[in-house]
Amino acid sequence: MDKKNKEKPDSSAILPVQMGYNSRFKFDCHKGVKCFTRCCRGIDIMLTPYDILTMRKRLELSSEEFLAIFTELKLLEKGDLPIVTMKLLDDDQRSCPFVRDGQGCIIYEDRPTTCRYYPLGVGSLSYASEPDNPDEFFFTVKEDHCLGFEEDKEWTVAEWREDQGVDIRDKVNAGWTDLIVRKKSLPANIKLSEQSKQMFFLACYNIDKFRKFVFESTFLQRYDIDGDRLEKMRQDDIQLLQFGFEWMKTTLFSEGSITPRKAGEKTSAGDGE
Ligand code: SF4
Ligand code: SF4
Repeated sequence: MDKKNKEKPDSSAILPVQMGYNSRFKFDCHKGVKCFTRCCRGIDIMLTPYDILTMRKRLELSSEEFLAIFTELKLLEKGDLPIVTMKLLDDDQRSCPFVRDGQGCIIYEDRPTTCRYYPLGVGSLSYASEPDNPDEFFFTVKEDHCLGFEEDKEWTVAEWREDQGVDIRDKVNAGWTDLIVRKKSLPANIKLSEQSKQMFFLACYNIDKFRKFVFESTFLQRYDIDGDRLEKMRQDDIQLLQFGFEWMKTTLFSEGSITPRKAGEKTSAGDGE
């Protein structure tokens, strides 16, 4: 065997196999696997806006309290946008605060999107980030400690996504994903102001404070919002969240539909609160 054949391949050079919605893979995760809860320790768990919305509700906290107790703020690499990750415990294994030995995840029904996706990763070959993007692809992420790949249960990617509830989450978060993809695709020297980053954080992650900002400041005097939409935003956090994404698209990229009122223009939704 010549030297070339003896050399170990550079794992960073191995491209993941691209999978589509109908691709199949074998995997199962249950309390009987020897590695049960190993994946809930020592890993970075990025939280999406919808994760924060549901987790803070589950824990009966305001978004502000949830962010302060359970999360850390980071800047997205290459993106210069704030992202939020789970604050891990200061124990030997850097455990997720919601994992319990033998029991598993104590917020399982409201676990974050990242936890639901595993063992799948998702990527896109194009700029578009809408749901059903034809350039979207998937790949399996095989952690050495994960024995789930040795199980016999077989899934298609579509079946796994539906079973884990990621479809609905991707749909709600689509506007946020779009903001991140847009920012990443700008030249690196185009930086956001501190104020823009704070507004992005407020609209995307701190939903209760954003609600106050929209309904209890001069915001509604400055932006004309359709009465029906405003009512839905009052009633429903998801509607408010998606409004926030669109407002950020206008504010950061001048492309959304939420435009400031012209000077002297009357409000269609009253004079605000
Ligand atoms: S390491 Fe893999 S198989 Fe084990 S608990 Fe985590 S996801 Fe399930
Ligand atoms: S949120 Fe639940 S599933 Fe996700 S890492 Fe923590 S314990 Fe595990």
